[in-house]
Amino acid sequence: MLPAISSLTFSPLSLRFPKPNPFAFFSSPSKKLHLSSPKFLRINPSPSPTPPIFSIPSRQSHTETTQSSPCGEVHVIVGPMFAGKTTSLLRRIQAESNSGRTVAVIKSNKDTRYGLDSIVTHDGVKLPCWALENLSSFRQKIGTVAYDQLDVIGIDEAQFFEDLYDFCREAADHDGKTVIVAGLDGDYLRRSFGSVLDIIPLANTVMKLTARCELCGERAFFTLRKTGEKQRELIGGADVYMPVCRQHYVSGQIVIETATSVLESQKLHCGS
Ligand SMILES: [Zn+2]
Repeated sequence: MLPAISSLTFSPLSLRFPKPNPFAFFSSPSKKLHLSSPKFLRINPSPSPTPPIFSIPSRQSHTETTQSSPCGEVHVIVGPMFAGKTTSLLRRIQAESNSGRTVAVIKSNKDTRYGLDSIVTHDGVKLPCWALENLSSFRQKIGTVAYDQLDVIGIDEAQFFEDLYDFCREAADHDGKTVIVAGLDGDYLRRSFGSVLDIIPLANTVMKLTARCELCGERAFFTLRKTGEKQRELIGGADVYMPVCRQHYVSGQIVIETATSVLESQKLHCGS
């Protein structure tokens, strides 16, 4: 029998601590999880002298253990806007549903661009969803019986949920859910956005998607805001944002900042 994760929290683990590296991006179908510290769950990318304290053969045992052990999963999909994060999330949710698992999708009620009752990708694929202000209200909204029957929970636009970490930990560790999270890793200034990066230490896998730079067609890692607005959360589509490569992010920022300050000085000039 595998020990329950919760019982490990207080066990005298980790005679040898690994270097904590919670923010590294990794995506590994690794079969073994090495729990070396109560705080950091980390997939070991290379052969390591650290012996695994226990290992979970993650995928194949899942169905076997679903009934007896509340062992869930957390998968994180990040990237700039227009990288196909929602499409990737919906594809995975659809695949889970096709294999007979019960699924639900949650999105933030802040994004009302496509209505609140469905989730729509930039290329038009649509799925019904729950539009919520916070994740902690989900269980109550869907009802305890329905929640208990769920196998998979998808979360889109995860950067808008402040309680993302607690929800994912609870759902995966204690409720046995597979949680698939899609969101922006960075805002238009490339600063960590919301709690998305905070859940990487909870994750089984992390995938960073890329878009195409709108200016040169190379791979785009960042989102450039085309307007001079300064607030962090500004909902918009291609009218406000564009995906860019590193070079065009840097040059684009300079152009926009210069244009904004010129406009502001003209306003001052006209106003005086
Ligand atoms: Zn470019």
